[in-house]
Formats: sequence, C-alpha cells, structure tokens
Amino acid sequence: GSLVGVFALQGDVAEHVRVLTALGARVRPVRSAADLAGLDGLVIPGGESSVMDKLSRLLGVAPAIRQAIGEGLPVYGTCAGMIMLAESIANPIAGQQSFGGLDITVQRNAFGGQVESFETALEVPEVSGDPVHAVFIRAPAVLRAGPDVQVLATVPASRSGNPERPAGDVPVAVRQGRLLATSFHPEVTGDWSFHRYFLEHVIR
Ligand code: GLN
Repeated sequence: GSLVGVFALQGDVAEHVRVLTALGARVRPVRSAADLAGLDGLVIPGGESSVMDKLSRLLGVAPAIRQAIGEGLPVYGTCAGMIMLAESIANPIAGQQSFGGLDITVQRNAFGGQVESFETALEVPEVSGDPVHAVFIRAPAVLRAGPDVQVLATVPASRSGNPERPAGDVPVAVRQGRLLATSFHPEVTGDWSFHRYFLEHVIR
C-alpha cells in the first residue's frame, strides 16, 4: 500500500489514521519536515486551522509542507485541512496563514458554529455511485474557485443557520490536480469513499 502521512500537530488525526489503515495504507504521523520524506500522500485533518497554522510555523514544518505541495505531493484536506490548502482565507484570525496550493478562497465557519452542525447526503458522482454521508462542523465554504479547480459537490448555503453565510450553492468538495479538499469530515462518518478516492485516484 501507499505510505500516507497525516499532519499530526492538531486535529482529528486518529480518525484519519484508522480509516487509511483500514484501507490498506501505511500511515505516518507528520510533525516535522523529516517526517515528509518518502511520502506518497498527506492528509490534513479537521480541527482548528489557526492553531495548525501557528504550530506548524512555530515548529518549522510549514515551509517544508508548502514546498512538498509545490512539488506535487498529493494532499487531502478535510475541513480545517481544506482551509490550510486554500490560497486565500476570506476571514482569517489575525495574521492567519495557510499552506496554500489550491486556488480557492474559503470562508471559515461559513455554516455557523458548533450548534449549527449538520449532516447531509451529497451526490458526488466523481467519487462514489452512492450518496456520500457528509458531516459539517464549523465548516468552511468555498467562496471562489479558480479555473483549474474541479467542483465535486455543492450544498445550498441555505442549509446553514449562519446569517453571515454566502448565497446560493457553495462548493464543499474540490479537486485541483493532486490536491483534494472537503468542507466536511468523512473520517468521522464511516463513509470511506473520499479516502478510497484519494488513495486510488489522486495518489495513483
Ligand atoms: N472552523 C475550523 C477552522 O477554522 C474548522 C472546523 C473543523 O475542522 N471541523 O479551522
């Protein structure tokens, strides 16, 4: 199987490790630049992007991840991980940076706070023949997607209780070459279709 790193300075690392291992990947937690050596792919989990940003800069791993993305490392980001892959954050917490690479602008917490979390069944024909079970927890929305970005799924923003929500249908799953990102968390649902897609179609 592939050797897949899971960014492990913050977030729901264990959940991703469990899914990837069950799908036959070898998994390595990534906390330093050295941990990136020889990886076939990297997953950036859900959690809190501002903390991921602070820790990864403090511990010096941010430039190495940025470089690996630039060199074509396949990366899958879920929720906070999507924010870390976004070229631009519409509402950063003071000075918050991302790794970038994915030509999107995201709005953090676009669907509201913890109490406005919701679950839905998403049609994602590129990824699965069956609807994908998607859980949104303080999830980001994609406000802008560049011309090279493939939108894999959208949800009506009216699904959100947040008065600051964007209008219309918003992308919540996107791919640009070797970068894959979802606003939601397949690692907590038991629906492994996105992890399988990442291993079989993005890494390979
Ligand atoms: N709102 C969080 C952030 O800005 C993401 C939440 C999540 O990963 N479930 O990073």
